Amino acid sequence: MTDSKLEAIRSLPKIDLHLHLDGAIRTRTILELGEKHSVDLPADNVEELSKHVQVQPSCRSLTDFLACFEVFYPVLQFPDAVERIAYELCEDLADQNIIYAETRFAPVLLTEEGASQEEMILAALKGLKRGRSEFGVPVKLLLCAYRGTPPEASAEVVELAQKYREEGIAGIDFAGDESQYDAREHMEALKLARKYNLPLTIHAGEAGGVENIREAVDLGADRIGHGVRLEDDQELLTEVVDKEIPLEQCLTSNLQTQAVSEIDEHPFPDFYNQGVKVTINTDDPRISSIDINDEFILAAESFDLELDDLKAILQNSVEAAFVDETTRKQLREKI
Ligand SMILES: [Zn+2]
Repeated sequence: MTDSKLEAIRSLPKIDLHLHLDGAIRTRTILELGEKHSVDLPADNVEELSKHVQVQPSCRSLTDFLACFEVFYPVLQFPDAVERIAYELCEDLADQNIIYAETRFAPVLLTEEGASQEEMILAALKGLKRGRSEFGVPVKLLLCAYRGTPPEASAEVVELAQKYREEGIAGIDFAGDESQYDAREHMEALKLARKYNLPLTIHAGEAGGVENIREAVDLGADRIGHGVRLEDDQELLTEVVDKEIPLEQCLTSNLQTQAVSEIDEHPFPDFYNQGVKVTINTDDPRISSIDINDEFILAAESFDLELDDLKAILQNSVEAAFVDETTRKQLREKI
């Protein structure tokens, strides 16, 4: 790729809709939080710790990938830690020419030291608010219900999303390891989100099969996280095109979790050519050692996309964003 094209890609204003707050944590921050809260970590310097909290070439599955999170989850069990990473995310996004982002986290995973889901949500909102006023990037929050955790916690997180939706909550995500846990127990909570008209995105067809995408579509998901396996069902693909359900694609993450074995095997270009509303996102940027610009460059290089294609994909993100129509119009004009 020529330097001028690289530069042109970098200078496009961008949107990231699939971005895990915990997956965006800086390694140095993990160390400092570990020290502050007296949490044992496997290393006491950034270089060594990186080997434990960034994906290594040996990563072979989503389960392996999620193991990186186990290392630093103990430092995130405190509201001040959550507030800090939310704030730092805003600073990182400002450096990447991002004009709007939605970040997500599962408060249920951060209650081991006694904090409530509500305290954690308020901490994240506070960090995002402070970050926005300092760095200028609007970042909204999606709350995750999580596979493999108690269904009551999912119901509670939906109620909390409803309670704080005017404070910067964009909607609900359903996350967790699809290869290990199904969605059945959480159906009531997801239906409650529908009842409240909370925007809903569902991780489906990443580590699990196309039937999870079917389930998400039937539930009325507004977006699908990953949806790689949609390539296995042409009929469903046509339905996703007709209903204009956007897919949050995360290329590097899919390679690292082995949702696809090679970038050439990624269905992204097929989806794009068949009219699926694909978007480009980072998933867990610090765990994957990438940023949004890397992902646009990877897509352009791997699938021969021109600037106009990338702009069309960014327009998909504008239409897919969980924002009010005034904000959407402003985003449309910026891209
Ligand atoms: Zn994800």
